[in-house]
Amino acid sequence: MEDARNARTPLSADEIRALIEADHKHVWHPFTQMQEWVEQPCMIVAEGEGAYVIDVEGNRYLDGISSLWVNVHGHRRREIDDAIRAQLDRIAHSTLLGTASVPSIRLAERIIRLAPEGLTRVFYSDNGSTAVEVALKIAFQYWQQHEDPAKRKKKRIVSFHNAYHGDTLGAVSVGGIDLFHGKYGPLLFPVRKVHYPDCYRCRLGLASSECGIACLEELERLMEREADTLAALVIEPLVQGAAGMIMAPPGHLKAVETLCRKHDVLLIADEVAVGWGRTGTLFAVDQEDVRPDLLAMAKGLTGGYLPLAATLTTEPIYEAFLGPYEEEKTFFHGHSYTGNALAAAAALASVEIFEKENTMENLQPKIARLAEGLERFRDLEHVGDVRQRGFMVGIELVEDKSSKRSYPAGDRIGMKVAMEARRHGVLLRPLGDVMVLMPPFIITLDEIDTLLDVTYRCITSVT
Ligand SMILES: *Cc1c(COP(=O)(O)O)cnc(C)c1O
Repeated sequence: MEDARNARTPLSADEIRALIEADHKHVWHPFTQMQEWVEQPCMIVAEGEGAYVIDVEGNRYLDGISSLWVNVHGHRRREIDDAIRAQLDRIAHSTLLGTASVPSIRLAERIIRLAPEGLTRVFYSDNGSTAVEVALKIAFQYWQQHEDPAKRKKKRIVSFHNAYHGDTLGAVSVGGIDLFHGKYGPLLFPVRKVHYPDCYRCRLGLASSECGIACLEELERLMEREADTLAALVIEPLVQGAAGMIMAPPGHLKAVETLCRKHDVLLIADEVAVGWGRTGTLFAVDQEDVRPDLLAMAKGLTGGYLPLAATLTTEPIYEAFLGPYEEEKTFFHGHSYTGNALAAAAALASVEIFEKENTMENLQPKIARLAEGLERFRDLEHVGDVRQRGFMVGIELVEDKSSKRSYPAGDRIGMKVAMEARRHGVLLRPLGDVMVLMPPFIITLDEIDTLLDVTYRCITSVT
């Protein structure tokens, strides 16, 4: 087995050339300017092992972004590999429309045991975008079937500027990143938008230590004015990921929840990025004892193995969809691969590792090591801000530190730092000029030091 595997990597120079040629000819990469792509060195991943990915030439790279934030326990975790193989010997997939399946039942039970209190029901889908869309549709339909006709006016969603909830059109509607979402305006449904706290570039010009989260006033006013038409608020708890690792000050999330409760607006927590341990607790809402009405999870759910998502909700919301069939309270939503058996088996194994290995407890010293190692970045001439929440890190590069002026987008500074890091054996993917560090949880303290050293040196040499 082992020999056969090793014999496959590295590939021959001819094989590699043929692969690159075919990639350039046929594969359209996500979030990628393809004109730039075909001019860059093409790294093709062939294998993974723990915190490393290995390319077709056999070079090893420390995976500093957990394969775009999804990998949790490392690549090729025996327990997850075995769980998928065992499931494969039974069945790869069977539909949840009209039949149930063993792994999807077991997984739902396990998720609910660990999920924030009050969440009791699991609706499966395939990815973060669909998990958010499911939450939006449930929230909308919930009010439409409300017994009080006045409540049926609650149709509008509140979301945040610079939010990212995925790339399907419903998720784009509640998104707020102009570069990604701006063009699609005419295709989207209208949403009420408020600002997320951005303490580095505070719109009110206040210092975060003494602001009392004054930026909440905007949401407060909106709710007071329009609560009777507001169905739900969707938020990335604690950290706006894709926006550039923007981190809300402590108390913000709790205050948002309080406003939602006061004005009878459902709270949707998009934990697609922050869920499953990323912020240092199993779920981000746990940190402020917040109890969302709906919670979307995806990325880390299967340990980074297979596409699977879940939208969790409460008993009262679930019950609002019950009734005789002809009342049409059914939630008419589902995907071909909803609750896929292989993905559910992988997720179950991943969740079991959290429980068996005390993953969250073991992560705490690593979070501290990251924090220590990040301190020296603050003194760099072109590092404007260093943000960390648990195992999510954003290092913002700026052209001018005192005025916080960004580099021109065309300079591609973040991308250049990432390309330089790759030459030093570290795989990074920035968000604009924000360097993102989001390693798998099995990374060792020494590997954390390497990740930081390489990032530090590459920032210094490029800026
Ligand atoms: C990645 C992400 C999504 C979208 O998930 P996909 O699986 O890429 O569709 C939604 N919300 C947040 C916060 C994300 O980070």
